[in-house]
Amino acid sequence: MMIDQPMRKRLFETVANRVIANAEELTDLDRAIGDGDHGTNMRRGFEAVLAAADELSAKGLGESLKGVGTTLVMKVGGASGPLYGTLFLTLGKSLPDDVSREQMVEAFAAAIEAVKARGKSDVGQKTMLDVFHAVLAVLREGGDGLPSRLKATAKRAAENTIPMRAIRGRASFLGERSIGHMDPGARSSALIVDAVADVMEGHA
Ligand code: ADP
Ligand code: MG
Repeated sequence: MMIDQPMRKRLFETVANRVIANAEELTDLDRAIGDGDHGTNMRRGFEAVLAAADELSAKGLGESLKGVGTTLVMKVGGASGPLYGTLFLTLGKSLPDDVSREQMVEAFAAAIEAVKARGKSDVGQKTMLDVFHAVLAVLREGGDGLPSRLKATAKRAAENTIPMRAIRGRASFLGERSIGHMDPGARSSALIVDAVADVMEGHA
């Protein structure tokens, strides 16, 4: 798949607009099991991405993704800023503009490992990683209707954090009381996957 400058710009803008449009929901989720800033954090970061979409997308895919990562590290703050920053910075390390699904799988797997290392965290701890992990498995399968399967998987993986007990991040301070709420970072990850899949499908 060729991800040229117009496509990169569309990707960054679609993701940014999706996060911004749902910032309230992210804040509500974080209010239940965190400190209520996830939506504000993400909105600040993705408003910066939106404002710089032309500049960010001007370089090749790898450099563009690194630019997004740097912007998120600088602007999002909280625990999620460095983690999303790490995700995009690592994705940007290896991807050529004309990228195969195998290369995407490899880059995404490496990015997930980098987030785990940065967060000292793993799958099953009620974080964004639970969504990334489920999405990677479907990306690895490939096959027909991939974008819609990626969307359904991300949505389900975020919902699957509801019965989990948080082991990392602020929500872990609540112990048992973190059970019964969707993880805000898992929800924001699902929104990002949804937006990327929409662009892949040509809907956005
Ligand atoms: P903060 O917790 O500092 O207020 P945010 O509210 O912006 O930061 O982000 C919270 C989200 O970050 C959580 O919902 C979770 O998905 C994610 N998160 C927090 N800590 C970790 C970690 N160690 N590893 C992976 N994800 C984490
Ligand atoms: Mg928070």
